[in-house]
Amino acid sequence: LAALSQVLRLERSRRAGIVFPLQKLERYLAPGTDTARFRLFQPGLAALQRAEALFRSDRGHAIDYVSSAVRMDHAPPPALPEVCFIGRSNVGKSSLIRALFSLAPEVEVRVSKTPGHTKKMNFFKVGKYFTLVDMPGYGYRAPQDFVEMVEAYLQERRNLKRTFLLVDGVVGLQKTDNIAVEMLEEFGIPYVMVLTKIDRASRGVLLKNVLEIQEFVKENTQGCFPQLFLVSSVEFSGVHLLRCFVAHVTGNLPTVEAS
Ligand code: GDP
Repeated sequence: LAALSQVLRLERSRRAGIVFPLQKLERYLAPGTDTARFRLFQPGLAALQRAEALFRSDRGHAIDYVSSAVRMDHAPPPALPEVCFIGRSNVGKSSLIRALFSLAPEVEVRVSKTPGHTKKMNFFKVGKYFTLVDMPGYGYRAPQDFVEMVEAYLQERRNLKRTFLLVDGVVGLQKTDNIAVEMLEEFGIPYVMVLTKIDRASRGVLLKNVLEIQEFVKENTQGCFPQLFLVSSVEFSGVHLLRCFVAHVTGNLPTVEAS
């Protein structure tokens, strides 16, 4: 289901669940629950298709791993609009980036998980349109190199358009996620939360985590987009919508008409 054309062949309710997984949860909420935050970004098919074209490589449109860096002076020049992905180790970050790039199978999403190895920022270039950065994951005790590297990146990267903070859909927001939230809030960086591995969470657990995070975002954050993005890198749910949001925030979808 990596491509929309495959999703469109599914029957209607399954298709809606793959493209708009958050909205699928709406009907299990108590009547009267405010669901405005469930549909702030709800593009139509044309916008989803235009976004998908950006994530599909072809002869005139290369999608490539560019380089890795441990320090900002090793980062590629900030020439294109950029988005970055951060989250706890094991949150599903490399799987999600692989799913986003699954229509460009030549892209190698490297993972350096060897304990003790320095974690790096990995830069990917999507044609002449934008760059995507895979940031090092943080752990129970955020290692100092993570904090220093990510802090410098967030503070200095002028072309950064949006940060995607990944949260595990099975366990929800954890104390360690506060490291990232506090950093983003302190620097006034616009970000959005992405709930991963939703295929693994029961509907009850997922709803609980979604509502808890929405409440947290409402009460405690300034810079976080109020709509959560739900994804499964295994089933591709939410992946098409996320591609569209990335295309939108990097200025590559001049108009996004609603569905
Ligand atoms: P990272 O450390 O954040 O890069 O995490 P990985 O992408 O390596 O994922 C950690 C583990 O979760 C791996 O065993 C993945 O197979 C699994 N995983 C990641 N995404 C999903 C998902 O969407 N669904 C399911 N069921 N498992 C996932």
